Amino acid sequence: MSNLEDYKGVWVFIEQKEGKIAHVSLELLGAGRKLADKRGVPLAGILIGHQVKPLADEVFAYGADIVYLYDAPIFRHYRTETFMRAVIHCVETYKPEIFLYGATSTGKDLASAVATDLATGLTADTTMLDVDADTGLLEASRPAFGGNIMATILCKKDRPQMATVRPKVMKALEPQKGRTGTLIEETLSLGEEDIRTKVLEIVRDTEKKVRIDEADIIVAGGKGLGSKEGFQLIHQFAEVLGASVGASRDAVEAGWIDHHHQVGQTGVTVTPKIYFAIGISGAIQHIVGMHNSGLIIAINKDPNAAIFQSCHYGIVGDAFEIVPMLIEGFREALGKAEEVQYGGKV
Ligand SMILES: Cc1cc2nc3c(=O)[nH]c(=O)nc-3n(C[C@H](O)[C@H](O)[C@H](O)COP(=O)(O)OP(=O)(O)OC[C@H]3O[C@@H](n4cnc5c(N)ncnc54)[C@H](O)[C@@H]3O)c2cc1C
Repeated sequence: MSNLEDYKGVWVFIEQKEGKIAHVSLELLGAGRKLADKRGVPLAGILIGHQVKPLADEVFAYGADIVYLYDAPIFRHYRTETFMRAVIHCVETYKPEIFLYGATSTGKDLASAVATDLATGLTADTTMLDVDADTGLLEASRPAFGGNIMATILCKKDRPQMATVRPKVMKALEPQKGRTGTLIEETLSLGEEDIRTKVLEIVRDTEKKVRIDEADIIVAGGKGLGSKEGFQLIHQFAEVLGASVGASRDAVEAGWIDHHHQVGQTGVTVTPKIYFAIGISGAIQHIVGMHNSGLIIAINKDPNAAIFQSCHYGIVGDAFEIVPMLIEGFREALGKAEEVQYGGKV
């Protein structure tokens, strides 16, 4: 059990790769700023890497008051052992009350190692954060029991209170150019001989991955499309709009489209300007991944489908009648006169 009085301040782990800060870290600085202001404590970023000092300016611009910097060749590549030692050294020295990480593969790996070593609590995959201004208790909420309820998790006895937060659910602040803060440079006596993991080679994945989390328009299809051929309708509509293709888990599991396109709790969280949900029932596990979209338009033949509770505009009807009309309408509007072709109903 920690002496709670000793811990003060909100921290964000600043994830960076090859000198570029992960966007989720900027989003967490925005969320962390609100928590720190509510508590009346400073917001800090912890930055670890090699030749990453110039990134501190960006961390200040996005809201941090303090940057703790560990800059040494041993931190060139992310390794659990080196990074967790730096983080634990920093936590034990400066004692933050709240510590946030992006729920990325690096953030999840690091946060769980740090939480285990410090014997403190960690809420994984958080989608909402708040803090009790008086007690300082972090209220970290996330979907639980298959997404049917939101659970708010507290860590009452130990510090820091840690959480990993899904990318794209928090908002980064507008950067304030020239905003500065306190830069604290730390060193760690750590040699390669102390570390069991060696990075021998970096092999880049050259496969072109779908980045639906960055799309402005998404046309998403579900089980209502009936078959892989039927799902082609979604691709055709997306092509006309210059949109990315999304999918429900059931469409992915049916083998109609790759998992990288899955939107939802076990897929990607997306925030496009426009999201079309076609033949998707609107299960909570899907909704949590797209409900922050600017405009949601649903097409479903069941007027009682749950998706109609979560959309701005709903069209009740058969996707195979409505979508070809939309394709034609948009093609005309966009000055394209190609024939409407689609996989057809099965
Ligand atoms: C732990 C867990 C995690 C999960 N994670 C995810 C996730 O990340 N993403 C996700 O999507 N799901 C996820 N799910 C699954 C989720 O619960 C639903 O089963 C899934 O979203 C349903 O997919 P669907 O809407 O495509 O299919 P269905 O629920 O079968 O809905 C199909 C819809 O299409 C409509 N329809 C049928 N024919 C037509 C037509 N011709 N025209 C128009 N509409 C038509 C029907 O009325 C119906 O509403 C998860 C479930 C669990 C338990």
